[in-house]
Amino acid sequence: MLNFCRQSVLANSQKVGARWLGSIVPVVKTKEFPLKNEPILTYKKGSKERAELEKALDKMSSECEDIPLVIGDKELRTENCAYQVMPHNHQRKIAKYYQASRNELKKAIDVAVKTQREWDRVPVEKRIDIWLRAADLMAGKYRQQLNAATMLGQSKTAIQAEIDSAAELIDFFRMHSWFLQEALKYKPISENPKETLNSMRYRGMDGFVAAVSPFNFTAIGGNLSYTPALMGNAVLWKPSDTAILSNWWIFKICREAGVPPGVVNFVPALGPDFGDTITSSPHLSGINFTGSVPTFNRLWSQVGQNVNNYRNYPKLIGECGGKNFHFVHPSADAESIVMGTIRSSFEYNGQKCSACSRMYVPESLWPKIKEGLLATHDKLKVGDVRDFKNFIGAVIDKRAFERITGYIEHAKKSPDLEIIGGGGYDDSCGYFIEPTIVVTKNPKDKIFTEEIFGPILSIYVYKDSKLSETMKLVEPSTPYALTGAIFGQDESWARQALDELKYAAGNFYINDKSTGSVVGQQPFGGSKMSGTNDKAGGPHYVLRWGSPQSIKETFVPLREFDYEYMRD
Ligand code: NAD
Repeated sequence: MLNFCRQSVLANSQKVGARWLGSIVPVVKTKEFPLKNEPILTYKKGSKERAELEKALDKMSSECEDIPLVIGDKELRTENCAYQVMPHNHQRKIAKYYQASRNELKKAIDVAVKTQREWDRVPVEKRIDIWLRAADLMAGKYRQQLNAATMLGQSKTAIQAEIDSAAELIDFFRMHSWFLQEALKYKPISENPKETLNSMRYRGMDGFVAAVSPFNFTAIGGNLSYTPALMGNAVLWKPSDTAILSNWWIFKICREAGVPPGVVNFVPALGPDFGDTITSSPHLSGINFTGSVPTFNRLWSQVGQNVNNYRNYPKLIGECGGKNFHFVHPSADAESIVMGTIRSSFEYNGQKCSACSRMYVPESLWPKIKEGLLATHDKLKVGDVRDFKNFIGAVIDKRAFERITGYIEHAKKSPDLEIIGGGGYDDSCGYFIEPTIVVTKNPKDKIFTEEIFGPILSIYVYKDSKLSETMKLVEPSTPYALTGAIFGQDESWARQALDELKYAAGNFYINDKSTGSVVGQQPFGGSKMSGTNDKAGGPHYVLRWGSPQSIKETFVPLREFDYEYMRD
């Protein structure tokens, strides 16, 4: 009987296993577009972009935009309203916004969870079309609104806004779409595709993703919320209170480009209300966070405490702080160190996670570097960012002002520290702090080891004969490993430093400053307490937000339960 069965099965084995021929898995039609960075406009006197930016600044400065919460297709205005002010003129309100309560956040979760499945059915190519349209709107029609909102609300100068809310934001939308298309080209092995075809498709993650963004980069807000959405997720976006206006423009532009309601829900809220509500929902599928270590640690522990309640293991991405270094070798070119360090430490008031805040300088080069730093420091103007002559504006808010000036006061009191440039501050009109240069005798002083996130550069001058010992201080002095730069013309030393400092930074620079990473060119992120190092702006990032599904299609039916070696 068994033998008979086998005979008949073998006779049938050439027949197809399904009623249709070929794969039923939809093929994504990729689109040709270049992997190219958005050009940075110069804003020179008389330029078209400068005239347009000034017009947008005038208009926005005279208004106070009313910004609702948006959950699904509903705009809500709650009783908890607050204002965003200009940091360089803190009496001037530029946006009124409303905070979501825990109840509204729960409603937003319900909407997002429901929307996710519908949104995930929208073919990838259509989603990419929307993202490219949004990027074009950001690059053209709304470029100066994004820049003006970033300048006024976050106190960035014109060029700092341009590299953030124009170039980097646009690059995230275009390049993450490009990287997604590239990822889709991967095909698992199919040894005989006529018999068995293997494929892989990316789904969104079941549930919702919470995007929690910082104040200091408009582009980061756009990336944290919209990259998971690109991958088929539905998102609750909690922008920073001090970046509401620019973030709202991103949201509006994306809706105009065609992102359907409910895919990204715009929900400003008090931090703990947001954190507690999302981490206690069983539907949480991921947190995309950028900000400080204490906030990320809190979210991570809350996820740990709730781990038995989730339907999925939430994916956690967090990009946090840094204590970034410039390390100078005696063979280095002093002038480029001076210019690079001034820019890295003081542009945007040192409120970049990558800003240089500690520098190791050999005694032999110190007189030249000191002279250069002080001469350049004298030329740095601080003030309202609408005056294009100013190099920096104000720090973001009162809390930051107090934290940063606390370090200046510490420097004034400590016998190990000497302020050689700046040190003044005044918050009567705006939160202004002079770029400050401190020399320390102690490379373990807190000014040299803690993240300050303000315009303070500390310098440790080492004896040339102590080069090796000083290099050994770099990595263990802080819990961070975000960015770092080495300067030197001695190639064998540079090779040695590249090796010895391998774990001191996620973004490492050789003879260049520690700031200024560009999407697609230097994917960004650090390890240790600087974060999960998922490298936004690189090819791996989009994949973190997908839930891949492997599919095996068999066209030849299985008719046997046993194996050949078992037979006579
Ligand atoms: P922050 O931690 O104060 O705030 C970040 C976000 O978290 C804000 O939206 C805030 O409202 C929210 N938040 C606060 N408490 C919360 C809670 N309990 N639950 C949920 N959300 C909560 O950081 P910040 O001052 O906005 O940003 C500065 C920090 O960000 C610095 O440490 C800087 O180094 C870091 N940063 C890192 C990167 C990077 O790529 N590594 C980039 C930019 C900024």
